[in-house]
Amino acid sequence: MGLLSKSIFRIATIACLIPTVLTGCKASGSPNAVQPPFMSTAASAPPQAAEDAPAPGKTGGFDGKRAFAHVAKQVSFGPRPSGSPALAHLQEYLLSELKSYGCNMETDDFSADTPVGRLRMKNILVKIPGEKPRVILLGTHYDTLLMENFVGADDAGSSTALMLELARLLCPQRGKYAVWIAFFDGEEAMKHWSDTDSRYGSRQMAARLSISGDIKEIRAFLLADIVGGRKAQFLRESSSAPLLVDLVWNTAAKLGYTAIFRNDATSAEDDHDSFLKRGVPSVDVIGDFVNNGYWHTPQDALDKISPKTLAIVGHVFLESVKQLQSK
Ligand SMILES: [Zn+2]
Repeated sequence: MGLLSKSIFRIATIACLIPTVLTGCKASGSPNAVQPPFMSTAASAPPQAAEDAPAPGKTGGFDGKRAFAHVAKQVSFGPRPSGSPALAHLQEYLLSELKSYGCNMETDDFSADTPVGRLRMKNILVKIPGEKPRVILLGTHYDTLLMENFVGADDAGSSTALMLELARLLCPQRGKYAVWIAFFDGEEAMKHWSDTDSRYGSRQMAARLSISGDIKEIRAFLLADIVGGRKAQFLRESSSAPLLVDLVWNTAAKLGYTAIFRNDATSAEDDHDSFLKRGVPSVDVIGDFVNNGYWHTPQDALDKISPKTLAIVGHVFLESVKQLQSK
């Protein structure tokens, strides 16, 4: 794939390069020292939230209310940085949900050397077989930023919820190509975002798939991140594969979502980079985190999340997968 030099286009990053003024970028000790506060899901869920969701029949079967409930569940575990007991609870939840949908999945337990020490991490990969060997990969990270009182409803609760709901719908289906759904640990930097302190899980998975040779079978990787905001806007991410950006944005336009999927450009370093660097055509569908006002702050809480936004992005992902399956 003809990737141009990404560095030329990087104008903002998902982690800490631009907003060094944000307190969100500083680490706060070892993850095990971060104590999840007690949080009542019911108390923190805005009462109007459930009414905000379109009927699943209008969004390709994707249930925004179910996705919202998955966000609330994650938030109820408290802060979920890599290596924390709270993230282990989320891992159990993900595996039990995926199992209940009849999904086949593989887990990869590995350890990563980080600026706050060696951390245990776990990637989860759902594998839905197809008639042909090639693969459509969907993915999200599910860890949250290492920061006190940061519950990450949008980052990474929303995209994790999105992938769970997509798995519920896609696991019983059989298409021309296999669909894999990746849940990456360790996307967030432990101290300062860099190529070595970030994307631990996706780098691990891309490396493993390279060794096995499976990475050559991936014809497209669609990454979701920060996809649940009430006022979310999605901009074309400039390091992503242009053909895939076009596919997703044209799909969104056909579905009538041009007010949310806009044609302006942005740039983000994210888990798609781990696959782009290995030649996999990839697109990052990421909410405009630079301007949402709560990114990497404790204000990234459940009140920022809209079941409607989740449903719209879910609809776009489902239709984009259909498009890819038809090619
Ligand atoms: Zn983040």
